[in-house]
Amino acid sequence: MFTSKLKIAVQKTGRLSESSISLLRKCGIEFENGLGKLKSSARNFPLDIYFLRDDDIPQYVADGVADVGIVGENILHENLCRVEAFEKLGFGKCRLSIAVPKTFEYRSVEDLKGRRIATSYPKILGDFLRKNNVNAEIHTISGSVEIAPSIGLADAVCDLVSSGDTLFTNNLREVETVLNSEAVLIARAGLEADSRKIFNQLVFRLRAVRCATQNKYILLNAPDEKLDEIIRILPGIKSPTVMPLAEKGWSSLHSVVRETEVWEIIEQLRTHGAEGILIASIDQMIQ
Ligand code: ATP
Ligand code: ZN
Repeated sequence: MFTSKLKIAVQKTGRLSESSISLLRKCGIEFENGLGKLKSSARNFPLDIYFLRDDDIPQYVADGVADVGIVGENILHENLCRVEAFEKLGFGKCRLSIAVPKTFEYRSVEDLKGRRIATSYPKILGDFLRKNNVNAEIHTISGSVEIAPSIGLADAVCDLVSSGDTLFTNNLREVETVLNSEAVLIARAGLEADSRKIFNQLVFRLRAVRCATQNKYILLNAPDEKLDEIIRILPGIKSPTVMPLAEKGWSSLHSVVRETEVWEIIEQLRTHGAEGILIASIDQMIQ
């Protein structure tokens, strides 16, 4: 039994909210949704969930208002807070990029010398420019960075990009990647022993969920004379399970394959005589 609770901060509304909440739920943690709420207490795990603006999360964690949080690496690197990034969470993927108007004849980072760059990430951009020996003017603006060149406020922008659609509709072209980012679990340094224990349990569950989403369970039937070849195609956690079917000369194989390789493996299996192939999702996976 735990006497204390761990406090986790997640984004209240925005691109990370839904995935953060659904990740905690997949970890078996039950709680009320955050709509209009500042805080929710989990019913079956020693966790209080705080719903906050993403920009504030590193500071709240550093100050001990929350013990841990889920935030994009972009926010973490922009805030000089004393928190540790523990675990990449595999969602909220984007990049912080420099983009220029399509008419800008851009060849290299040198072309940014003496130019005005609009961004909401002055620290990360400043570090990037210094590293590349480029002296440019940074204009810090808090939103709608992409319109800065068209209104004459800047020659280039440094902004978050995922699909690139926003840049395209604003006649901008991506020329440099400054930072690749995804959601991470952050924690305050020096968590107390009880909080640390709960944190370790949470990380264990998060890893099991992540591992599960990266893998699929595969079941198939195959003629016995093809088994050796098929086993070579199916790596499995250790090696595939092989069980005889009621029909003589046939076996059923069960295994786990990486999600990214599923289609390629199915094609190989079919050409090697596999039939009745089933692919199933995994909820949790502990290796
Ligand atoms: P808040 O009101 O909490 O301050 P926000 O408007 O600053 O919200 P969102 O646009 O919801 O923030 O983005 C939250 C995070 O989602 C970003 O900091 C980034 O880590 C991630 N993200 C993923 N893809 C994108 C994208 N295409 N544009 C912006 N952010 C993205
Ligand atoms: Zn924000």
